[in-house]
Amino acid sequence: MRERLGEIRRAALAAVQDARTPEDLEAVRVRYLGRKGELTRLLKGLGALPPEERPAAGREANLLKKDIETALRDREAELAAAAPAAADRLRGGVDPTLPGRRPHLGRLHPITQVMAEICAIFSEMGFAVEEGPEVELDSYNFEALNIPPDHPARDMQDTFYVDDDVLLRTHTSPIQIRTMERRRPPLRIIAPGKVYRCDSDVTHTPMFHQVEGLMVDRAVSFADLKGTLTHFLHRVFDPATEVRFRPSFFPFTEPSAEVDIQCVMCRGKGCRVCSQTGWLEILGAGLVHPAVFRNVGYDPEEVSGYAFGLGVERIAMLKFGIDDIRLFYDNDVRFLHQF
Ligand SMILES: [Zn+2]
Repeated sequence: MRERLGEIRRAALAAVQDARTPEDLEAVRVRYLGRKGELTRLLKGLGALPPEERPAAGREANLLKKDIETALRDREAELAAAAPAAADRLRGGVDPTLPGRRPHLGRLHPITQVMAEICAIFSEMGFAVEEGPEVELDSYNFEALNIPPDHPARDMQDTFYVDDDVLLRTHTSPIQIRTMERRRPPLRIIAPGKVYRCDSDVTHTPMFHQVEGLMVDRAVSFADLKGTLTHFLHRVFDPATEVRFRPSFFPFTEPSAEVDIQCVMCRGKGCRVCSQTGWLEILGAGLVHPAVFRNVGYDPEEVSGYAFGLGVERIAMLKFGIDDIRLFYDNDVRFLHQF
């Protein structure tokens, strides 16, 4: 009898400790204390013992019953205390059963993308990339480029002055001058960068991007300029795009031309974007003016060259079909996400 009580005690208390859920505990209770439980059956069998042994065996069996009940209550309390902590871990946002979240990746701004594409096309043709300061001297921005103080071309470019002779560059052309001062021909460079003008509407922002190009060598002709720019425009836009050169005027080139492409929106039929002309002005170019060569110490009898300048925003707007330049600088993620 005593041995049997000892076995039940060990087995029942171990089962209570192993229980992980309230359901486990209930199963242990039924197994030992239920109506047909092991301890219940043993208590019912006490009557079969000799009369002198019954009181001691009865006491011991009742003591075991109380101990099992106490163990069940204690374990129940432990499980209840642990349960909210587990629930909290899930509520805290870490549910290892959910699929992972894709991290948000940034991407290059459309202007940066188009600028990189322009640079890549000219790099293939052997042009090196040069840079220069955005805060520039008046002499580099205007005078060295054959634009004297009283020249009407200065009215065309509303300038942000920092000081009497210091300004925010209005074009990337001063990089031509800085490069020619530093190096001797032959030269083949492009100069991408930010430029500044007092101007703001649907096609102008006070800051925008230009890419300047310059080639200097012996016997560089207008045909070289036409070939280079036509190839470039066929790479940036459709290879079937028609290109035309119109006579124009810039103080730093002679002769000068403005370059148009067939309207990319209407394919030349005429629409709102091209003001019904079928053509879009895309860049300015020309052969380097002899006065500019003399300003940097080159002999215009010995060398010749061409220069061109294009607006990056203008090309990006036409490539992507964007009708308001300000969209580039609103930093609206819904817009930027499309590129
Ligand atoms: Zn058109």
